[in-house]
Amino acid sequence: MARVALVTGGTRGIGKAISEKLAKSGYKVAANYAGNDKAANELAKSVKIDVFKWDVGDWEACQAGIRRVEDEVGPIDVLVNNAGITRDAVFHRMNVDQWREVIRVDLDSLFYVTRPVIEGMRTRGFGRIINISSINGQKGQSGQANYSAAKAGMIGFTKALAQENANKGITVNCIAPGYIDTEMVQAVPEQVLNKIISTIPTGRLGKATEIADAVAFLAADSSAFITGSTLTVNGAQYISG
Ligand code: NDP
Repeated sequence: MARVALVTGGTRGIGKAISEKLAKSGYKVAANYAGNDKAANELAKSVKIDVFKWDVGDWEACQAGIRRVEDEVGPIDVLVNNAGITRDAVFHRMNVDQWREVIRVDLDSLFYVTRPVIEGMRTRGFGRIINISSINGQKGQSGQANYSAAKAGMIGFTKALAQENANKGITVNCIAPGYIDTEMVQAVPEQVLNKIISTIPTGRLGKATEIADAVAFLAADSSAFITGSTLTVNGAQYISG
């Protein structure tokens, strides 16, 4: 039986590449998204995966959405917490909405999405939870106190959950991408982006498919002994100990 994978924010950017990679690798994929129906429907058609619209920053919506996924696709074996947003501002000019929105979508969602899934994984004795953090959660980034806090929080969450579930066949890991060529990064002004690229020793942005390949590696049955770790995929831009 094919394993079932839920990818949040799985219809655009890095999430889209993850959905495509897992589908190609034989998983039954459910891709969640927030509002861009056009991108979701195009992906559903081209890769033949199921798409589900709900806000990962809303507890009730997550419970209902995950029930739908489990009814229509099957019990979730692999969960990729990928959905994320930025609302950048230097902290002394950041307003409370920019803070709350990023914490809600990037950090609170870890509870909202993972909590309804974890009990089933524990009962079935198998699970793979892969959280997409960021280089900026590891090193901090000015203009992103909200995002850096959420993405660093994700690493702590990963470590705690890995310990709690290690004896139930469940692994919990983080991937910390560097700058990846997606719409999120294309929104950065060109001058700033060129400056960023000059700090990447490989001399280029990463590709979404390179993150997807790392997800597939951690999702595999053979990765059972890798848990609680953070896999850095950033072209040596930042090497954490
Ligand atoms: P994109 O903006 O390209 O795509 C974001 C995806 O998440 C979309 O599918 C979007 O849905 C979905 N999404 C956004 N908000 C919500 C929500 N509230 N509920 C459900 N789905 C939501 O992002 P990226 O691919 O660039 O980033 C993906 C992840 O990787 C994020 O967590 C990001 O922080 C992280 N990351 C990205 C880096 C980069 O360089 N791009 C670097 C390091 C980390 P919709 O299409 O409907 O809007």
